[in-house]
Amino acid sequence: MPIVKVEAPEQANTYDIHIGHGLLKKAAGLLERCRGHRAMIVTDENVAPLYLDAMKAQLEAAGAQASAFVLPAGETTKCMAQLERIYDALIDAHITRQDFVVALGGGVVGDIAGYAACTYLRGVRFIQAPTTLLAQVDSSVGGKVAVNHPRGKNLLGAFYQPELVMIDCDTLKTLDARQVGAGLGEVIKYGCILDRKLFELLNRCGSRVRVMEALAPELDEIIARCCAIKARYVHEDPHDHGVRMQLNFGHTLAHALENTMGYGVLLHGEAVCIGMVAAAGWGEALGVTPAGTGARIERVLRAYGLPTERDERLTRAHLAAVMALDKKAEGDGVRCVLLTKIGACTGTVIRGAQLEVLL
Ligand code: NAD
Repeated sequence: MPIVKVEAPEQANTYDIHIGHGLLKKAAGLLERCRGHRAMIVTDENVAPLYLDAMKAQLEAAGAQASAFVLPAGETTKCMAQLERIYDALIDAHITRQDFVVALGGGVVGDIAGYAACTYLRGVRFIQAPTTLLAQVDSSVGGKVAVNHPRGKNLLGAFYQPELVMIDCDTLKTLDARQVGAGLGEVIKYGCILDRKLFELLNRCGSRVRVMEALAPELDEIIARCCAIKARYVHEDPHDHGVRMQLNFGHTLAHALENTMGYGVLLHGEAVCIGMVAAAGWGEALGVTPAGTGARIERVLRAYGLPTERDERLTRAHLAAVMALDKKAEGDGVRCVLLTKIGACTGTVIRGAQLEVLL
């Protein structure tokens, strides 16, 4: 079973990401730290019927007192109103600072449960058990936790590392193809910014149908590789002030698209796909990215049936205005990540007026 170590030095926190098959049915050993404590599992209505009993049973086998709170599924759940419901559940369950919040689900559950864990009592202990490909390769690692604001994605958030991440790859068997694709968008992103071999591997495996079968022999390796890349960035830049921003490749436009179209209409990973093709085009126009790079990325995304173009009805001016509110806004511009080639990238600030032209 691959184990990836994450060291977040400023937060004096080192933790392991355990990656394996059937982990949710044999996690009691990993959950030993919960012995004698309460553990509130936060999950959603789709994941609960599939994996909540297993998670509860393992926590109880580890000697914890487990309870659960089930959220509605989907991006609209990542909001203040649902956060308040989680706080109520934590108060009702008498969760103290020695106790645990366990996020069981995709990135939505991980982000909102993590933000609750970070802020409730100024911080209770936190475990991530991600069940989507996107959460396994990205959102469960690195400690970014957040909820959305009606005017911007992830505007309310914090850095709060989990003390354990448990990735059971078998949970991906119940994930629908669209969600798998959204996760693959982030995997392709890792290939674009830092790992050319991963990009080429994904290029070779590309299949519109039976994506999971095509990837199955490589899946553990792909997940571990992505987690290792993320761990490296977190170690070097835990608070996203420098090199970690490279992980935002494609995200500047992606967040604006998600916000403009309404949270949940375009999946986050899908929006990232459109954002990556756009950012490659901006890089080409600015002479930073070699010509033809955008087309290469587009081909790989299309091979997996992923979206590459934004809805033409979204005006440049509107998107530029939403992007100006993004976390990555800097002065009158927006910090963007551009590729210098497949497998390498750099950050640059694109001014508002220039951005509107590029869009
Ligand atoms: P999600 O959490 O909404 O999950 C997608 C859907 O799959 C949901 O309907 C969920 O109920 C269902 N599901 C989850 N696991 C399942 C399983 N094993 N079988 C069947 N159905 C399952 O979406 P997501 O794509 O996992 O995460 C997207 C969120 O992650 C966004 O809010 C994004 O902003 C956030 N994110 C955070 C970070 C970070 O660093 N914190 C990084 C990337 C993305």
